[in-house]
Order: sequence, then structure tokens, then C-alpha cells
Amino acid sequence: MWNYNYVLPSLLVLVIILFYYFSRPRLPLRLNKTFLGILLLDIFTIITDYLSSRACERYAELSVATVNVLNMAFFICFLTRIYWFYLFSVDALKIYYAKPRWKGVVSGVPILFAEAVALSSFFTGAVFTVDAAGYHRGPWYFLLPVCSFLYIFQAFVLIIRNRKRLSPFEIGSLMGYNTILAIGNLVRILMPKYLIMNTFCLLAILVIYLSFENPDLYTSDRGTAFNMRAFQDMLNEMGQKKPYRILGMVLRDYNDERGIYGGAQMDQGIALISQYLYKQYPECLVFYLRSGCFTLLGPENLDCGRIRGEIEERFEKPWNASDADLYLTPAFVEVGAEVSKESVDRVVNTLLIALDSAGKADEGHAGQERSDIIQAIDQQMETKRSLEHALEMDEVEVFLQPLYDVKNKRIIAAEALARIRDMNGKLIPPNLFIPIAEKNGHINLLGEQVFRKTCRFIRDHVIEDLGLAWVNVNLSPIQCMRSDLPQRFSAILREYGVPADMIHLEITEASIIDYSLLQKQVMSLRKEGFQFALDDYGSGYSNLTRVKHYPFINVKLDMEVVWDYFRERDTLLPTLVQAFRQMDVTITAEGIETAEMAEALAALGCDYLQGYYYSRPIPMDDFVAKYGKKAVS
Ligand code: C2E
Ligand code: MG
Ligand code: MG
Repeated sequence: MWNYNYVLPSLLVLVIILFYYFSRPRLPLRLNKTFLGILLLDIFTIITDYLSSRACERYAELSVATVNVLNMAFFICFLTRIYWFYLFSVDALKIYYAKPRWKGVVSGVPILFAEAVALSSFFTGAVFTVDAAGYHRGPWYFLLPVCSFLYIFQAFVLIIRNRKRLSPFEIGSLMGYNTILAIGNLVRILMPKYLIMNTFCLLAILVIYLSFENPDLYTSDRGTAFNMRAFQDMLNEMGQKKPYRILGMVLRDYNDERGIYGGAQMDQGIALISQYLYKQYPECLVFYLRSGCFTLLGPENLDCGRIRGEIEERFEKPWNASDADLYLTPAFVEVGAEVSKESVDRVVNTLLIALDSAGKADEGHAGQERSDIIQAIDQQMETKRSLEHALEMDEVEVFLQPLYDVKNKRIIAAEALARIRDMNGKLIPPNLFIPIAEKNGHINLLGEQVFRKTCRFIRDHVIEDLGLAWVNVNLSPIQCMRSDLPQRFSAILREYGVPADMIHLEITEASIIDYSLLQKQVMSLRKEGFQFALDDYGSGYSNLTRVKHYPFINVKLDMEVVWDYFRERDTLLPTLVQAFRQMDVTITAEGIETAEMAEALAALGCDYLQGYYYSRPIPMDDFVAKYGKKAVS
């Protein structure tokens, strides 16, 4: 009566998938549990389908109750499988984490209703009846195909609505398996005697397996560890539920070690380490993220200290790859409960930056507590936010620090120094935000804001009354590389009616990277009337002859050079001063903190002095209040 040709092959393929599924590492993700549910439900459905069909054929040899129970089991499995296929689309689209739970419950109502009706068939004969004449479909049998199409339709709606959440390939796969199920249901209606629906379900399972559940998608190719994608998925899911703790481990100087031992050996080493971690710490999930970076993801109370100790001890012995003993050193980063509530991107970024810097840290830092790094990164992110906010709201502040003229014994100029504030209104020093601004390109905006505000200050005050003959503005190397810089600055000068020679631009030696471009820029800015000072001389790769090729009118000796001189009175500083004097550039000494320093540097021949001894950098208003009446500090 029924055609069973498809039953056994389908069952065998399912068993093979199950075998593979269980023999490889799996993440305890909701999605994976749903998939396992589908596999088991499919097996039960195939078996009950087969048995109930056989029972219907041989009803005469069996009791009515047996035929009833077998059919009932089939209907329940069949209906539940429909729902589980639907749930897989929901889980893959990560819908339930964002939406309220009741929606999940509501989505189960049709299937529960259908199952209740099926169960009631014992008494009502709604879906089927079994009597002495055998099995008969009931008036409510239509619930089965209706439920199937209802859930497939609902799955399509969700997939289309949430299509941005996954890659086109994954969306295509979700659509694909639901289409296969829809076709299977149609075929089942058209050819009810072929038990072919199970085969279509199997095809759907294959699509799911290949596009979502294949262990290779989640494991690193270097061993038994899970990969970055698995790590992100797991954090995504855990973050919604419970706090966790991460112990990150990086092989120090990974790239150098890879160069020394060779790629193949190193890969073996990575596999050995993954296996070791996997066996040693079953309470954790082990991930291999990239370039020598591992993470152990465990419960909130994970004893990272103990684990670190044990791992360090193991690393004292070599890892035996086939042709070489690998001697490697680990460094660690801990990420605790405090970041559990952060976004996954942020946790992963923080961890990777921390691991990178831990991996490069010099010997003295090996094994050192890394929470300081995490803190530094947190601070960096906070600084970045404050910087963006300040730039957007035009809230970059400009502080002024006076320059003292040795010859005339009075304040002659000031340096404009950028300041921003954090969310609590606390000042953030430039050495924190300038490097960030330089990295992400905001430095151009920042520099322009400082320049504009300095010009406005000059326009709004009679700066001669403040004792100022000019104001120094710092120019970042990145700004120097912008070809439209001269035009932009000149436009601002014109806007505020400020003569160009009122501004001295400070550039650092490090900025002299692309010499020809810089020379071009400096020349065009000089044509516009700007003057140049060389900042922080002596802090980098100082090159005296290079100074000659640029039209600097002033060289600022870096405060380290100045302080060195007071630690040990060698001839470097006096020699430098002499050399610059011969080159006809004026000299400013930075970092003057005491009267003794001021006197000594004046005696050596410095023209200008700058430092806390005269004044710290202060807000423009304070500067006006302090020096307003040509007061000499
Ligand atoms: P810089 O241009 O060398 O500025 C001098 C730095 O030395 C200032 O630090 C100043 O506060 C500090 N300083 C001055 N006298 C003393 C002293 O007696 N003792 C000590 N310990 N420090 C002293 P600040 O304001 O923190 O700025 C640091 C650096 O940030 C500046 O070094 C400059 O390179 C950069 N910067 C500041 N504002 C800007 C800006 O608007 N654009 C660019 N591109 N860089 C800026
Ligand atoms: Mg400067
Ligand atoms: Mg300086």
C-alpha cells in the first residue's frame, strides 16, 4: 500500500550526520541544540512513520490500541518537527534574544493546538480514527499541511524581515531549506502513498548542516579549538544570559617564533596547545582566535590565577612537534565580569588589542597582570568618544602657555595647546588624544579647530597688551601631508583678519617623513607668511644638517634634553645651543621648572624659555586675566 523505498536510505544518511555531529567539537549554542532536536525528531518521525504505515497495512493482525498509539506517535513527531525546523530559522536569525519572550511562546500556539487536536483523536476522531476496518483520516487531518505551510510561511517572513542580520549565503540557505520543506509538503499532498516527506526533510537538514552546522565553520584549522566566529557567536549568546570570564593567552613574539620554527612546526605546536587546553580545562571552551592568540571562556568564577600558573608551568617544557621541540612563552590577559555586559564587538576588540600588546611586551612585562592594559584600552575608547564629541560640538579647548623672552625679561609669546574633556568634565591630556586623532584622521579637524580658535583669540584681543608678539600653534605630521593645508589655513587667517606672521607653526622632527612633500608644504605656508619652529628637538632622530634645509626661525629643545643636562652636566646641550646660534635660529628651551634651570639656560644662550616655572598651560580667559595688563610674570 505504501512505498517504503525512501525510508531506509534516509535513516542511514541521518545516522551518518549524527555520527559526524557527535564526533566533532560542538558549541553549546541554542542553534546547535535546535539542530540536534531536528535530527532526533527526524529519526523518530521516520521510524514512527514507517511503523504506523506498516501497522495501518496490517491492522488486522494488531490491536486497535497499537495502531492508534503508533499513529498518534507519528503525528506528534511530525508536528513537532515542523516547529523545530521553524525554530532553527528563528535561532539562526538570532531573533529571540532581541524580542520579548512572549512572542516565542505565541509562535508555539498553532502547533500546540494541532497536537492537542491530534491527541484528542483517540476520542473524537478529529485527525484520524482506527476501527475494525483499519485507519481512516479524520475531518481535521488538514491541520497537518496547514500547520506546515503556516510555519514555513512565517519563517519566510522572518527571514526577509531580518535579512540584514546574516550573510547573503546564510539567508539563501535559510530560504533554501524552507523552500525544500514547502515542496516536500506539496509532494506529500499530491503523492500521499510515498513516504517521501522524510526525504525532503533530510535534504533540508543537509542544507542546514552544510551552511550552519558544519563543524569546520566553527573550528580553527590548527587543532581542536573553536575559531573566532565561534567565539563571537558564543559571547553573543552568553552575554544575554550569564556573566562569564575570559582568560586570553598569547604566544609571545608569535611571528618571530613562526619565522624561527617554520609554519608547519608552529601549526603543530598550536594544535598541541589547543589539545592540552581542551583536555586540561573541560569547564572552559577553548578558542584559537588568530596569530598565537587563544582564549578560554569559562564561568564567572573561573580561577584564572590557578589556570595561568598551571599553563605557565607546562610552558616551561617544550611542545614536541614532529621535527622540533618548540620553546614558547605565553602572556595572559584576563577579561572579567565587568565587560560581560559590553557589546561583543567591544569585548573582542579589547581582548585582541590587549593580547597583541601582551604578545609584544618586553621581557619585564611577561606574565604581568594585564588588567592595566584592559584599563588603558577602556580609557582609550572613552578618550575616542570624548574626542569625537568635542570635535562635533566644536568644544576643543585651547590653553595657552607663555614663552619667556630672556633678552627682554618678559613674556613674548604663547603656545596654543589643545585640550578636551571627558564625560565628567575632567581634562584629558593631549598625549592621550593626539595619537588617537592622528590614527583615525581626526587630527585635521582638531588642528583646524585649534588654529581657528587661536586666530579668533588674536582677533578678539589686543594681544600686544597681553605681551604677545606671536602665538605658536602645533602642526601634526598628518596635517602637513594634506595638500590643501596652506589654502585652508590662509582662508581662516583671512576670515579673522589675522596677519600670518602672528602665528608660528611648530612641527616636530618626527614629522619630517616625506621630505619633499614637507618641503613643498612649508614653502607654500611660508609664502602665505607663516613662520616655522622645530618642536621637541632632541627627542627623536635629531639631525642637525636637516635643520639647515628648512626655514625654521626657532628650534625648541625637548624637555628631556633640558632635564638630562641638569641630571648630568655634559656638553651636549651647550654644543647644540652653540650650533643653532651659528645657524642663526633662535632657541627655546622647554620644561623649565625652576629658577635655577631658567638662569642656567639663559646663561647658555637660549633665547626663549617655556615651562611650569613661568606658567602651566592655562585657559585663554585665565591667560587674559593673568597677563592682561602687560604683567610680567
Ligand atoms: P609640545 O608641543 O612639546 O608642548 C609642550 C608640552 O610640554 C605641553 O604638554 C606642556 O604642558 C608641557 N610642559 C611645558 N612646560 C613644562 C614643564 O615645565 N614641565 C613639564 N613636565 N611639562 C611642561 P601638553 O599640553 O600636554 O602637550 C603635549 C603635546 O601634545 C605637545 O607637546 C604637542 O606635541 C601635542 N599637542 C598639544 N596640542 C596640540 C595641537 O593642537 N595639535 C597638535 N598637533 N599637537 C598638539
Ligand atoms: Mg609644541
Ligand atoms: Mg615641545
